[in-house]
Amino acid sequence: MSDIEKDCIFCGIIRGERPAEIVYRDDTVTAFKDKHPHAPVHLLIVPRRHIRSINDITENDGDIISAMVLKARDLAKEFGISRSGYRLTFNVERGAGQVIFYLHLHLMGGWYKDGD
Ligand code: 5GP
Repeated sequence: MSDIEKDCIFCGIIRGERPAEIVYRDDTVTAFKDKHPHAPVHLLIVPRRHIRSINDITENDGDIISAMVLKARDLAKEFGISRSGYRLTFNVERGAGQVIFYLHLHLMGGWYKDGD
């Protein structure tokens, strides 16, 4: 394991060494609740492999990005915010507000629940 992975908060969550409310996990992606939510529903979807940011993905990572977006769509439905609406955000590097350098997709919504 590299030093970066050893010290990485999200690596620790994926390895089960740091507490987190995990809502989904498979061989490709893990999703968990944001510790300091900016929305009533605020989930983070991360790949299994450590990738720093969108700047570091390659043409071979298309399946990972696709799996992250499809899982976000499914979780939006599961959390009852699919039709009312939600935001999907990648913050890319410090100037955009990225503070955890492990690729993650923010799923935020729940200001209105489906059916409202
Ligand atoms: P960024 O600003 O890097 O795009 O987003 C990082 C997100 O990770 C923030 O929304 C922050 O609240 C969340 N976060 C930081 N540390 C932890 C942690 O230890 N556990 C969880 N569940 N979320 C965290």
